[in-house]
Amino acid sequence: MSATKLDGVATAAAIRAELAPQIAAYTARKGRAPALHIVLVGDDPGSQVYVRNKQRTGEQTGLTVVVHRRPATATREEVLSLVAGLNADDRCDGILVQSPLPHALGKTAEQQVFDTINPAKDVDCFHPENVGRLVQGRQVLAPCTPSGVIELLVRQQIPIAGRRAVVVGRSDIVGKPMALLLLQRDATVTVCHSKTEDLAARCREADILVAAIGRPAFITAAFVKPGAVVVDVGINPVKSHDHAVQIFGADSPRVAAFDAKGNGIVGDVHPEVAGIASALSPVPGGVGPLTIAMLLKNTLTAAMAR
Ligand code: NDP
Repeated sequence: MSATKLDGVATAAAIRAELAPQIAAYTARKGRAPALHIVLVGDDPGSQVYVRNKQRTGEQTGLTVVVHRRPATATREEVLSLVAGLNADDRCDGILVQSPLPHALGKTAEQQVFDTINPAKDVDCFHPENVGRLVQGRQVLAPCTPSGVIELLVRQQIPIAGRRAVVVGRSDIVGKPMALLLLQRDATVTVCHSKTEDLAARCREADILVAAIGRPAFITAAFVKPGAVVVDVGINPVKSHDHAVQIFGADSPRVAAFDAKGNGIVGDVHPEVAGIASALSPVPGGVGPLTIAMLLKNTLTAAMAR
């Protein structure tokens, strides 16, 4: 079997094409575009890239995107007061504080900052009030990555109701909300994590397997029931030429691409899974673009709901 590609690039483009006229209509009605404010503290290279992509894509779709950059030396109080100012700013519709915050801010900083965001502007859906709404199935804003996965499945007409879904990973950002959204769509959901016994056997029970672990090519064919739908949320760096060869095989164009660029990314799912799954989301080009599309959607939703 060769798995159908769950094409995140095309799906994200379709979502943005639907959003653009809605954003234009809002802008015409209100005399200003919905505004997303991104707080970027420090100089984490991954975060710089993610924020650049969010800004570019947001602006192309018609949003106003303002990036508030602060140095890695910023204090927790400075970040909290920046967020408080955005909460009070009537022209700000959505607030996103790019994770991770610098370690120097302290272990509890991220939670404290997320908790400070006005829930009505919390486009990442990390605030406890929004998480509570999600648990009760009455969310206005849904977390971007898991809701992007749902869009990917629904738009490819993959049935969810009644099916066995296994989510590997239980983070607050991906695994837990993913499980809740699948449950809302009437899947029978199992959540696995690093303490799960016989993980491969649990995964083989899945009709829909979502991998959100953060371990390169960890989910091999031995974890997948033939014909299952596999969604790969993971984004992991390819570390070296040898690492690329080990994952993709010496003759793969992915190795040549790594050699040419000196870097690359790989998901949590091993490429060999394409031979056993019925559908598989690629990395790159799968869930990543949808995360951004759902962020834009949440910004419009937040603007319209306020
Ligand atoms: P976290 O590190 O917060 O969580 C990882 C989860 O995986 C934990 O629940 C952990 O279990 C579990 N896990 C780790 N190792 C194993 C193992 N050997 N067996 C079973 N479970 C394991 O990561 P995130 O949820 O934030 O992200 C997961 C991946 O998704 C990353 O690669 C990240 O880069 C990517 N990501 C991609 C996005 C996108 O837009 N495509 C957006 C966000 C994240 P435990 O709880 O027991 O420690």
